[in-house]
Amino acid sequence: MAEIFHDADADLSLIQSKKVAIIGYGSQGHAHALNLRDSGVDVVVGLREGSSSVAKAQEQGLTVRSVADATKEADVVMILVPDQTQRGLWAAEIEPNLKADAAVFFAHGFNIHYGYIKPAAGHDVCMVAPKGPGHTVRRQYEDGRGVPVLVCVEQDASGQAWDVALSYAAAIGGTRAGAIKTTFKEETETDLFGEQTVLCGGVSQLITYGFETLVEAGYQPEMAYFEVCHELKLIVDLINEGGLTKQRWSCSDTAEYGDYVSGPRVITPDVKDHMKDVLADIQNGSFAKRFIDDQDAGAPEFKKLRAEHERHPLEATGREVRSMFAWNTDVDADYTDGQT
Ligand code: NAD
Ligand code: MG
Ligand code: MG
Ligand code: MG
Ligand code: MG
Repeated sequence: MAEIFHDADADLSLIQSKKVAIIGYGSQGHAHALNLRDSGVDVVVGLREGSSSVAKAQEQGLTVRSVADATKEADVVMILVPDQTQRGLWAAEIEPNLKADAAVFFAHGFNIHYGYIKPAAGHDVCMVAPKGPGHTVRRQYEDGRGVPVLVCVEQDASGQAWDVALSYAAAIGGTRAGAIKTTFKEETETDLFGEQTVLCGGVSQLITYGFETLVEAGYQPEMAYFEVCHELKLIVDLINEGGLTKQRWSCSDTAEYGDYVSGPRVITPDVKDHMKDVLADIQNGSFAKRFIDDQDAGAPEFKKLRAEHERHPLEATGREVRSMFAWNTDVDADYTDGQT
């Protein structure tokens, strides 16, 4: 069973006595910076020159510096730029400017676990990873609640790394909900496995095959879209509230019986074997290498795959169906540039 820590286990004063540099001001960056500031922590935000986030951070009353200058002042440097960008920024701006005893923090273990970033022995290396998007982390904090966080230590140079990490977790609201102790290896490998096999890859492929099967059998695409994609949210909300049991209880008995007899015909035991193959590629580093090599080459494979998938008829039908829901139009606008 996981070890879980709460507010009473954390000493908020540890992080309050340090200067924290938040590098990046995206989904996680803005939430960490604002929550830390509101918890009485001395925060500086490090951004690229000309970044569109500079104005946003300044409007919130935060101090913004270059990545190099923010790093120079900091006792704790939290790196919240995209995973594929971290290694280059680390080498160029962060590592050369780190105080000798500064701690280096992450919200995902990718670069440390796969060895793309190797902080010198004098630095604490920690992770505080909220289990939710940054905007939820900020909203929950403002409402007096918090999003659960994962906390771990890869390198404990100070002898205090865990206590400081837990203190940071408290300052962003994480220990209000609960902090789960893990390792960089466990967080990275389970995160990649979940998104590849179930949450992103698995669900996307399942929806696509379902849509294609109905449309190829002559059913209207709009009907197919509703049945295999749009209604998924209702099911996922039920699972989120009460597990598979609540989902089955809430659906009709017809749906529940079909779940038991047809689910295992579609998701056969060889799917589990393929999941094990994917897990092996995550564990042996070959997925990470393929992703980073492609990114380093300008992301040709990534861009080709993104374009191919955006052209699938499912997506055109989806835009049409979603436009029937007036309250959905704003949401869609965020995604039409292909960036999620
Ligand atoms: P994001 O894409 O929302 O934001 C990245 C920020 O970095 C932006 O402000 C961008 O302008 C800035 N940036 C990009 N390149 C830069 C560069 N070269 N120099 C300086 N700044 C640069 O990223 P995110 O989703 O907040 O992810 C940050 C980290 O948090 C990642 O390690 C991610 O795995 C982790 N994480 C994200 C979530 C989530 O829900 N988004 C949840 C948990 C952990
Ligand atoms: Mg992930
Ligand atoms: Mg139905
Ligand atoms: Mg039922
Ligand atoms: Mg994305």
